[in-house]
Amino acid sequence: MIRRWNAAAAALLVIPTLAFAQRGGRGGFGGGGMTPENSAVFAASAPTFPTDDPIIKRIWAMGMDSSHTEQLGEVLFDSLGPRLMGSPDIKRAQDWLVKTYKSFGIPAKEEQYGTWRGWVRGHSHIDLISPRVRTLEATMLGWSVGTGGLDRDFSTIILPHFADSTEFVKWLPKAKGKLVLVNAPPVSCRPTEDWAANAAPEVAAQMDSLRRETAADWNGARSRDVQGTGYSLALGGGELGIRLEDGGAGGIITSRPKDGWGTREIFETYNVKTPAITLSCEDYQLVFLLTQNNQHPKLRLNLVSKALGEQPVFNVVARIQGSEHPDEYVVLSSHFDSWDGSSGATDNGTGTLTMLEAMRILAQVDPHPKRTIIAGHWSGEEEGEVGSKAFSEDHPEVMKGLQMLFNQDNGTGRIVRLNAGGLPDAAAHLMQWMNTVPTEFKTQTGYDGSPGRPAGGGSDDFSFSCAGAPITGLGALSWDYSNYTWHTGRDTYDKIVFADLHANATLTAMLAYLAANDPTQITRERIDLVAQAHADSIAAAQRGGGGGGFGRGGRGGPPTWPTCEKAPRTTNPRLK
Ligand SMILES: [Zn+2]
Repeated sequence: MIRRWNAAAAALLVIPTLAFAQRGGRGGFGGGGMTPENSAVFAASAPTFPTDDPIIKRIWAMGMDSSHTEQLGEVLFDSLGPRLMGSPDIKRAQDWLVKTYKSFGIPAKEEQYGTWRGWVRGHSHIDLISPRVRTLEATMLGWSVGTGGLDRDFSTIILPHFADSTEFVKWLPKAKGKLVLVNAPPVSCRPTEDWAANAAPEVAAQMDSLRRETAADWNGARSRDVQGTGYSLALGGGELGIRLEDGGAGGIITSRPKDGWGTREIFETYNVKTPAITLSCEDYQLVFLLTQNNQHPKLRLNLVSKALGEQPVFNVVARIQGSEHPDEYVVLSSHFDSWDGSSGATDNGTGTLTMLEAMRILAQVDPHPKRTIIAGHWSGEEEGEVGSKAFSEDHPEVMKGLQMLFNQDNGTGRIVRLNAGGLPDAAAHLMQWMNTVPTEFKTQTGYDGSPGRPAGGGSDDFSFSCAGAPITGLGALSWDYSNYTWHTGRDTYDKIVFADLHANATLTAMLAYLAANDPTQITRERIDLVAQAHADSIAAAQRGGGGGGFGRGGRGGPPTWPTCEKAPRTTNPRLK
């Protein structure tokens, strides 16, 4: 009950103060957690400046010594919470974002680009009530149907293995009114590394092959032919969920555990009549084995949710107007939306805070940059980079005048990889900028001036890179992102490494400042992808490894520049 503020109060919590971080309350990461990987930044209380530019020094002081990220993060993740595409939650958070920018003296607005299915998540109470009582670690999938806040009891049934879809259809009446367990049973909920570290080698190897066989058996030889039905579970229930619902099933029970302790992915369903729930690895196994062994488990569901139909969806765009070349742009890019199993702190709250904090600093140290600086807080990234694709289509002037777009979307760690998007001139500029920022940052990223490759999809830089515009991906150190926070129910405020976030926002502000005031505009010649792939495979062979792939479509034929994809402007179901 404590530390919960409403949105109106939250809007007031962005007043500059150091008190919160210094109190050592939530967010007081300053004193601990130092590792060899981040020691370069921690040691730099007196950084090495290769330049006398007072603005670079001021950015360091503001970003490293008086960061606002702890406070902003607490409001965004704890008070406002998850930001599911099309939900009232993301709209409320977007309103807060615009107000926060205004409190920094930066104009910002919400730009509608389409509609998406709206949905309100209420409570999920999911209990095992027979053969014994246990409150399960479980929740609804995004967009699930509820039970109207009433208790409803269900028995369970396991999706069997079918010879073909005809056999599946014949079986459907058996699932009538029942919750169908649609995912493979976990062989073990211990992570692989636990088995590798503690099991006898042959036991660990047996476990590995048992896991592989179970997954292959359940999901089929063809891609996603779950238990032989011919249907896919997509990110949650997929087309199989819908077919089960149409066939009279009472709902579906899913589980997508990660290879880590207590983590699972929580995505979405397109079912419209019956609930779709997700259980933890352990509780899924419990219910699965009770069902398999004829111990007749019963589950009691009490779920509240509300479908709202198509709702307007927005990007938030903040702008510091350029003084000399207002039609040339530096874009700070990060998606604002999240899945809603938790609060999207590292996906992509940290990218969001990096750009928001960089803009706060920039507005103070360089309120009249030569080029226009935009922060693009996209929505719908999780649904296929929808917001950034729409922005690139709706703003030809930005695409034409884009000097550089900096994108971040991979967790909380310090920035250790830079990619110049396959443009040699972008790489040359980036190298120049990295030679101007404190030496500690250059060492940390290890950037060597290589042009990299066009963004291959999976984040919003793709929406710009596909058109050959200059982009830099700000790649973060992992911090167990993929197995613990990415799309899980554990992506929460406590996971943020604020020391790294301070450094990331500081570096990003410096890069944006240098890009906006650079005397020359970046040109768009592309690297020769075929020649580069050839050179890479020779280098890989010399190292004794296999040939390197190349982003999207990298296997097989010769590499080609990725093709832009049209933004869906209304809900675009992903069922396969
Ligand atoms: Zn993301």
